[in-house]
Amino acid sequence: MRLADKIALVTGGDSGIGKAIALEMAREGAGVMIDYVGGDGPAHALVEQIETFSGKAAAFAADVSNPDEVDALIAQTVKHFGRLDILVNNAGVEKKAPFLEMPFEVYSKIVDINLTGVWLCSQRAARQMVKQERGGRIINISSVHEDLTMPTNAPYCASKGGVRMLMRTIAVELAPHGITVNNVCPGAVDTPMDAALTRDPKKYDALLSEIPLHRMAKPEEIAELCIFLASEAGAYITASSYVIDGGMMQKSGNL
Ligand code: NAD
Repeated sequence: MRLADKIALVTGGDSGIGKAIALEMAREGAGVMIDYVGGDGPAHALVEQIETFSGKAAAFAADVSNPDEVDALIAQTVKHFGRLDILVNNAGVEKKAPFLEMPFEVYSKIVDINLTGVWLCSQRAARQMVKQERGGRIINISSVHEDLTMPTNAPYCASKGGVRMLMRTIAVELAPHGITVNNVCPGAVDTPMDAALTRDPKKYDALLSEIPLHRMAKPEEIAELCIFLASEAGAYITASSYVIDGGMMQKSGNL
C-alpha cells in the first residue's frame, strides 16, 4: 500500500473528485479526514464505505474560506488521527456569467473558496507539518483553467491562476521543511460540477469535440495522480502543475 501509515485531509471530500481521492487514499492505507459543507449524509456514508474495507476515515464540517473553521478542522484531524501528512485542497465552486454582468458577490465567493481557502488550509496544515518535523505533501486540485482562458468563467480562472502562483511560491518556502506542494490540473471530469454539461447532449458533444481522447476523465483517474504525488514515488516533485486533460490543452482545431 502506497500510503500506509499516512494521514490525509481532503477538503470537499464528500463529492466528485474529492470523494474519489478520499476513497482511493484510504484503499492505499491512509487514514482520511473528509472535510465537507452542507448536509452530513454523503460524508458519513463515505466514512462507512471506507470502513467496509477496514480503512480509517472520519468526517468534519468546515468551510475552507473561514479561518476559525479551518483551525478547527486541522485540530480535529490531529486529535482524531494524531498528526497530518497530506493535505488535498480539493474544495471548489464555479458559477458562470459574462464578465460585464457578473455580480461582485459571486466573484468574491468563488475567490474566497477556490483561492483564499487554499491559502488558509495550506498555511494551517503546513504549520502542523512543520511542528511534526516529518515533512508533508500539499496537493491542490487546480484546473486547466489555471492557464487556459474560459469566457464567462473569469472568477474561476482567476482563482485557479492564483492557486498556480500560490503553489509555486509556498513550495519554495516550504521546501526546507521537506513539504512538497503541487497542483493537479484536470480538464473535464465527470462529477456533479459538470452535470449541467453532461445532461445536455449538444453541450456534451461540443465538449467531447474539444478533447483529443474524446471522453471526460473519471474522478478515479485524478485520484491516481494525487496518490502518486503523495507517495514516496513523488518525493522529488515540487512546485509543479500536472495537467490531466485527455489532451484538451493542445486542441489544434484541425478541421
Ligand atoms: P463537486 O461539486 O462534486 O465537488 C466540490 C466539493 O467542494 C463539494 O464537496 C463541495 O461541497 C465542496 N465545497 C464547496 N464549497 C466549499 C467550502 N466553502 N468549504 C469546503 N468545501 C466546499 O465538483 P468536483 O468536480 O469534484 O470539483 C472538485 C475540484 O476539482 C474543484 O476544485 C474543481 O474546481 C476542480 N476541477 C473540476 C473539474 C471538473 O470537470 N469537474 C475540472 C477541473 C478542476
